[in-house]
Amino acid sequence: MPTEQVISGSCLCGAIRYSASASPLFQAHCHCQDCRKNTGSAFAALAFVPINSLSWQGQTQTFTHRADSGAAMTKHFCASCGSQLFGTNSAKPDRIHIKVGSVEDAQWFEPQCNVWASSRLPSTPINAGVKDFAQMPTTSAKK
Ligand SMILES: [Zn+2]
Ligand SMILES: [Zn+2]
Repeated sequence: MPTEQVISGSCLCGAIRYSASASPLFQAHCHCQDCRKNTGSAFAALAFVPINSLSWQGQTQTFTHRADSGAAMTKHFCASCGSQLFGTNSAKPDRIHIKVGSVEDAQWFEPQCNVWASSRLPSTPINAGVKDFAQMPTTSAKK
């Protein structure tokens, strides 16, 4: 993966478009219940970038909830089509995650680990080379 790249994407209806000039700080699959509810899928594919690298056009709707850690998690989504796009965590205000399913060309995506592997659905395949964390790793993720 290049050291810096442009990650661009949009929601399903195209009302919101975004781009980030950054190399992802961290890439992961998250199997937690919140991510499943939020995405409507078996797990979430997430790429974290510096929050100031991301800009978007169009109006996102937000929803904030509490994680088990007590942190406030804010989800950004399109009010017209419902696509989930980004999310922030109050404990790590300098970064934002992009939902990889909304990225235009995500061939570079390579999850470094599975977070909340303990709540993974039995049918979800796991890449043998990818590290599992039963819950959320507490140390800040580094490459
Ligand atoms: Zn939309
Ligand atoms: Zn999650």
